[in-house]
Amino acid sequence: MEEVLTNPKDGFYMNRDVFGVAGDFITSPEVSQMFGEMVGVWVMCLWEQMGQPNRVNLVELGPGRGTLMADLLRGASKIKKFTESLHIHMVECSPTLQKLQHCSLKCTDKDDADGNLEKQIISKLSETPVSWHATLEQVPTGVPTIIIAHEFYDALPVHQFQRASRGWSEKMIDVAEDSSFRFVLSPQPTPASLYIMKRCKWAEREEIAKLDHIEVCPKAMDLTQNIAKRISSDGGGALIIDYGLNGIVSDSLQVWCLLLLIVLLTCFSR
Ligand code: SAH
Repeated sequence: MEEVLTNPKDGFYMNRDVFGVAGDFITSPEVSQMFGEMVGVWVMCLWEQMGQPNRVNLVELGPGRGTLMADLLRGASKIKKFTESLHIHMVECSPTLQKLQHCSLKCTDKDDADGNLEKQIISKLSETPVSWHATLEQVPTGVPTIIIAHEFYDALPVHQFQRASRGWSEKMIDVAEDSSFRFVLSPQPTPASLYIMKRCKWAEREEIAKLDHIEVCPKAMDLTQNIAKRISSDGGGALIIDYGLNGIVSDSLQVWCLLLLIVLLTCFSR
């Protein structure tokens, strides 16, 4: 799944704009500017509650076309004390989408009057510095951090398991004799099946006993742990928005929008 989405040559997100009427799907920021503006209000409230720190990293994971961040900055641009505190960090794996985001945020190179070796990129929407990174780990630490992730978690690779006579077996993709793809069950324990046995303590034994299929996303668990660690050491908060079933998931690969799940992680330790 990761390869299909992010392979540098042919990955789904890597070389084209997949959003909108002419693309493959549409997301809330693309439907109405109110979405980014409302997220902006949430970010400003958090900044207020944190005591208006004069430096904040505002990180967006998987910003798509950059529409949410553009609406957020445009909406917030009159609150100068807020926008002057921000450094925007866009975490994006796709070079094509990075270019689109650069354009949506109306970015320009800052005149290097101070003789800095590293050139700074500024969004003209709010005169805010912007940087791009491939992963959250690359975003500098040591400053209060506010993280937004809208429809990012659902792009992370999942593993699926099916109950078989020998216990939980991982569902794998195989190539059949006629070269078509087919699902098969792994005959041996896989690294992922060992991982779920160790990590997934979130469901009650009785709940698991009722299930035949289960799906887990180890990358989502690791990412959430990294976000929580960063917020507890640097202060800040996270707004994670995705759409799906509120319960144990057995197959999210073709989910129709069922429920909006919003997870907030906040901590004002600094
Ligand atoms: N938040 C946007 C786009 C959601 S689509 C919106 O709501 O419109 C998922 C986004 O995450 C895309 O920008 C995609 O390129 C990016 N992405 C997917 N997998 C990624 C990964 N492993 N690392 C960084 N970015 C990723």
